[in-house]
Amino acid sequence: MIYMDYNATTPLDERVLSEMMPYLKEEYGNPSSMYKKAQVAKKAIETSREKLAKLLDCSPEELFFTSGGTESDNWAIKGVAFGLREKGNHIITSQIEHHAVLNTCKFLEKIGYQITYAPVDKYGIVDVDFIRKAIKKETILISIMYANNEIGTIQPVEEIAKIAKEKGVYFHTDAVQVVGKLPFSVKKIGFDLLSLSAHKFYGPKGIGAIYIKKGTKILTFINGGHQEKGKRGGTENVSGIVGLGKASEIASQEMEKEMVYVKNLRDKLENGIKKKIPEIVINGHLEKRLYNTLNLCVKYVEGESILLNLDFEGICASSGSACTSGSLEPSHVLLAIGLSHEVAHGSLRFSLGKYNKEEDVDKVLEVLPGIVEKLREISPFWNNKKNEKGKID
Ligand code: PLP
Repeated sequence: MIYMDYNATTPLDERVLSEMMPYLKEEYGNPSSMYKKAQVAKKAIETSREKLAKLLDCSPEELFFTSGGTESDNWAIKGVAFGLREKGNHIITSQIEHHAVLNTCKFLEKIGYQITYAPVDKYGIVDVDFIRKAIKKETILISIMYANNEIGTIQPVEEIAKIAKEKGVYFHTDAVQVVGKLPFSVKKIGFDLLSLSAHKFYGPKGIGAIYIKKGTKILTFINGGHQEKGKRGGTENVSGIVGLGKASEIASQEMEKEMVYVKNLRDKLENGIKKKIPEIVINGHLEKRLYNTLNLCVKYVEGESILLNLDFEGICASSGSACTSGSLEPSHVLLAIGLSHEVAHGSLRFSLGKYNKEEDVDKVLEVLPGIVEKLREISPFWNNKKNEKGKID
């Protein structure tokens, strides 16, 4: 089996699993209880918070554990929307956000908020000037993702943070695809709110966190007990939090090495595909892009058909994002960068990670051209094109 869908989720690092195991077995105390056993769990939570704070360069008090990226996005956006209702009801986001952000904004629209969806250019980079001009006195939040999960494009977050600060508007970023992949400092960039998820960087599923800059006015999202300083009720997912902490520690130590290794593999895959398969389009910005992501459109065939054939060969990839595959609509991200429905339907995403080997890339390069050729042979669009041109270059 060859796994090249790391943007959907990553395998658990063995070291993360080992660190989690005691908290799934003998250390089952409820962190809110008074006795020593419970305090072991409480201490483990605080150690994890420190490890994550080190990775992000913030204070541990500014971090709150959640059930993952989706909850963090919901909390950031609804929390500010409800917390600053008196000040205004306008939020700016982009057309290419993850559905965790887009559908939260759509929900807010239904209850009277105004949302502006900033467009992106052909590389998927958000129009910063548009954002600047869209800010009005009712604007309370700008929510722009750090890097896109489908095409990997990295957004000019420093510039947006500067504008937000100048205008006195909060800036939230969905950094689910960046945390653990790229080193950065929340303080230096100047985010007010940031969402992250452990399962995108070798941690467990169902655990994430939100960074809330000290002093940010935001309402509690999950009401309940006094956990997480009363801001997020519910007995903590102790083993998950320990896993997130360990994954953060490993990322702090190994990320730089991994970046070079994975980028080399991704580049080899990209160059090989470009050489072996005619009529493909690489999506996203060639430089301002996550080093592990390769999104491409294979013209005249359906991405889903390629995926099924790859799966038959034991290769896991994706078309668009995992959350949207299964739907017949082409990806909203690919449409936003200006691709036609027809071309967008041929989209394929390979996202690589630290467990991939050079042989994995060789295997994909060995089987993919044949799969594409076979599918094109039965594609009326391809045959029309061939007849028109005599030959395809
Ligand atoms: N935001 C982005 C950019 C993502 O890629 C994902 C996951 O695919 C999410 C949010 C949702 O994260 P989670 O699966 O932890 O809810």
